[in-house]
Amino acid sequence: WQEINLGFHPIKWFPDAGPCAQAMGFPGQDPFGIGTKTYRKTGTARCPSLLWVLDIPGLSPKGVVIMQLFRTVKDLKDFVRTAKKEGKTIGLVPTMGALHEGHASLIKAAAKENDVVIVSDFVNPTQFGPSEDYDAYPRKLAADEKVAEAAGATAIFAPSPAEMYPHKDMTWVEVTGNITKVLCGRTRPIHFRGVATVCTKLFNLSQADRAYFGLKDAQQTEVLRRMVEDLFMNVELRIMPIVRESDGLAKSSRNVYLSPEERKAALILSRSLKHAKEAFAAGERDPRKLVDQVTAEIRTEPMSNIDYVELYGMPGLTEVTGPIDGRVLLAVAVKFGTTRLIEIGRASCRE
Ligand code: AMP
Repeated sequence: WQEINLGFHPIKWFPDAGPCAQAMGFPGQDPFGIGTKTYRKTGTARCPSLLWVLDIPGLSPKGVVIMQLFRTVKDLKDFVRTAKKEGKTIGLVPTMGALHEGHASLIKAAAKENDVVIVSDFVNPTQFGPSEDYDAYPRKLAADEKVAEAAGATAIFAPSPAEMYPHKDMTWVEVTGNITKVLCGRTRPIHFRGVATVCTKLFNLSQADRAYFGLKDAQQTEVLRRMVEDLFMNVELRIMPIVRESDGLAKSSRNVYLSPEERKAALILSRSLKHAKEAFAAGERDPRKLVDQVTAEIRTEPMSNIDYVELYGMPGLTEVTGPIDGRVLLAVAVKFGTTRLIEIGRASCRE
């Protein structure tokens, strides 16, 4: 946070300068196209993030307000305490790093709706099973800082595992019941306990008013919704749409594991769910038939190895026994080589 005397200065506009410029009292858009323009403005402004540059002599470095990186719980707590004292609203975007446009969309949404945006960048060991890809999971903090900053983050929190889990005998947060046992819970029995525990820690540390998650991980959002409700947490969950590659593959940090052939084969996921949606739109209400249709289509791809294709009622991942008459989620998890990808489709009779 930096207090800047505005005076009469050239302002360089960046593609996402709008919200920050507005916060300073400048017009929300660059009226002259992206570029440098001189504006007359006096007074002071608080700069929420590096989305614009004020070329003011003497301001270091060049008037750029730099997104802050925190590695410790204490530093993040100090930052949050100050922000809260100033009456700022806080948006939290929990991630495991290797940020892509899917993550950036959450950060941008958070920057629109909050004064301060904290992005956590932490490969959480407690949500990985012993034979899963914890060690191999991509870690790219330097690149992540750039993505987060450009999308409008105010701070990035990248703690070590020891910082997040200081005690060997630790406290767990566990959502019980079907919601954590079906779909990914079947093959990843400790996964959602790890997710719920780390998100509780992050919610407490960030004191977030809102936390942003992707619909891509639909079971995760259902589990967290239940946790927030059950534990009376003061955070609003904001669930954002899936961001895809131009060919339809959902963006994922794990896509980098795919060989070119596997990458191509993986398109069967979005395609089969699209066809199921079409069948639903044409009146198919039998859950079994929709599941069988998707299963059969994925099986036509020889490189695919199905973990599950299942359909549940929403909210809460309830069993659907008879014809579909409400909101449903059709979720698939499929391995291509050693890479396990998930994909979901939603449908509602009330839409
Ligand atoms: P991860 O780093 O994979 O744990 O993801 C962090 C957050 O980003 C989660 O809430 C994900 O659902 C979300 N996310 C991941 N991929 C996408 C995507 N393609 N579109 C939208 N959100 C995503």
